Amino acid sequence: MLPSNSRFQRLSQAALSRSQFLQFAAGALLGFPLLAAAALSSDLAQNGGAPWTKDATASDRMGAILVSQFGPVKIHSYLSPLDGFHVNTQIIEGPTAVVIFDGQLLLPYADEVASYVQTLGKPVDRIILSHAHTDHWSGLQVLTERFADARVFALDGISDQLHARGQARLDSFRPIYGDRIATKVTVPTEIIAEGVQRIDGITYDFRRFVDAESDLQLAALLPEQKVLMAFDLVFSPNEHAFTVVDHFDHWMIVLEQLKALQDYDTITIGHDTPVHRSAIDSTITYVKRAREIHAASADAKTYSESLKAAFPDRQLASVVDFSASLLYAAPR
Ligand SMILES: [Zn+2]
Repeated sequence: MLPSNSRFQRLSQAALSRSQFLQFAAGALLGFPLLAAAALSSDLAQNGGAPWTKDATASDRMGAILVSQFGPVKIHSYLSPLDGFHVNTQIIEGPTAVVIFDGQLLLPYADEVASYVQTLGKPVDRIILSHAHTDHWSGLQVLTERFADARVFALDGISDQLHARGQARLDSFRPIYGDRIATKVTVPTEIIAEGVQRIDGITYDFRRFVDAESDLQLAALLPEQKVLMAFDLVFSPNEHAFTVVDHFDHWMIVLEQLKALQDYDTITIGHDTPVHRSAIDSTITYVKRAREIHAASADAKTYSESLKAAFPDRQLASVVDFSASLLYAAPR
């Protein structure tokens, strides 16, 4: 199942284009250490500003679910095991319906999300995709099968990105994950409007950010609950961040904009458990250091080793190898 060095060599010698090989190598770099670490139990450190309770209704669940109540609104945060990149699906339960944000990387974890949502006994009003990175949308294949009436939304531009690159991304992960990765790209069909709107009586303020961890990223504010859903704009102080594109400078500007949102003490993020707003500062520190190391590093290996050395206490070091392979594969 895991690619050995010899398989690497065979693949590199086979009729793969350079970009295909790099894609595969990136997936392999990411997959091997995470799969090895998957047996570890999830760390459910309570970082977030609000009190979170671990759901214990299913003893055989592979992922973990944290739940927090904000008046009439409940947020259920599904956290995948490590081999699913510790990616989250946020489930917002209102008085009469459920809104799901993001769809997981691996289909079995998306299936766990769907099964849990069904226990809530409310219809899925819609599914919203935060950005076009594969770990957030591959599992939409399962969610759209199991909630066939739910429309799938994303910012204007996300669907174009998925049409252009989605299948190649799935193909690059398939050697690692086999049939646990989606077989087809689920493309959002609805555009989510920026600004304030009410869904099931809950006020959302949808914001569009460009050139940060990804080219295009949604953030969702819940002003009445004082919750900021930052997705991959903010990372846990406990884990390495993905730095797959050279947007370091603008990402820091975006983080300062988030920091200016003074009242939002609870932040849900794309990977790992919810965090306190101090995670914005620790993400700025990380991105700033990554920018310096990128400027001083001629190749992916140097970048990766230097960044890991700069943050030796952060988990998911394999994420740095993955990031470096993509960061240095792009034209500089
Ligand atoms: Zn992500």
